[in-house]
Amino acid sequence: MTRTVYVNGEYLPETEAKVSIFDRGFLMADAVYEVTSVLDGKLIDFEGHAVRLERSLNELDMQSPCTKDELLAIHRQLVEANGIVEGLVYLQVTRGSDGDRDFVFPSEDTKPTLVLFTQNKPGLADSPAAQKGAKIISIDDVRWGRRDIKTTQLLYPSMGKMMAKAAGADDAWMIEDGHVTEGTSNNAYFVKGNKIVTRPLSKDILHGITRAAVLRLAEEAQMEVEERLFTIDEAKEADEAFTTSASAFVMPVVSIDGVALGDGTPGNVAKRLREIYLDEARKKAI
Ligand code: PMP
Repeated sequence: MTRTVYVNGEYLPETEAKVSIFDRGFLMADAVYEVTSVLDGKLIDFEGHAVRLERSLNELDMQSPCTKDELLAIHRQLVEANGIVEGLVYLQVTRGSDGDRDFVFPSEDTKPTLVLFTQNKPGLADSPAAQKGAKIISIDDVRWGRRDIKTTQLLYPSMGKMMAKAAGADDAWMIEDGHVTEGTSNNAYFVKGNKIVTRPLSKDILHGITRAAVLRLAEEAQMEVEERLFTIDEAKEADEAFTTSASAFVMPVVSIDGVALGDGTPGNVAKRLREIYLDEARKKAI
């Protein structure tokens, strides 16, 4: 089916959507993005994604392409036009193009580029991958130092997923200065005893929207949460581990670098948090 996508004010069939070859998103990854999930045809955590988008734009001195209300309307219109019941809405803002290539930012009157499209993912919530759990490997974190800004510089995370695939695993956790930063496209946690451990927020990791919700829900459910640096060896010795992201919610991790966690199946804390999260997400969806 030909999707309807959004480009700079227009809703178009995907085959007719165009962006300039001089666009700085294309030439320099001078762009930020957000991914919002859709369940029951409604948006999950839209407000959180809109606030983080605004922050990413501010950190890069990039103009906002439109208001939050306009963004919400575009999201809803695309979900409706493409009949999405379960899936994702991808949004990207770039610094646009003044018709040439230059390292220096274009003049202030250059309009940002705004592109949105949907991805249909039936079975997103009831996912077989989450029932199986993910096998992960550890790799060095060689990304730039502003991982709190959600830019489209995704070559290394992509390579990380390929390294995982080559090793017969599903994903990779990245390590810097002896400590786990995060997954290639998710935040990382382990559980030992009744404590959930995850890295504190800083410029070293993306401030996950799902992370914020899951930590709040864990505390509401009387689970103990500790935000601190941790090593991959601690995670390997844990009872269980998991990741969070808007596109996979809470994903149990069943092995790290070939070492099985617990009995090698998804742990109870991860399973419970996934359930609680999905429950609340559906209730609050707009
Ligand atoms: N860290 C990284 C590097 C990511 O790419 C993502 C997903 N975009 C996350 C964490 C999780 O963030 P969120 O829960 O907002 O999807």
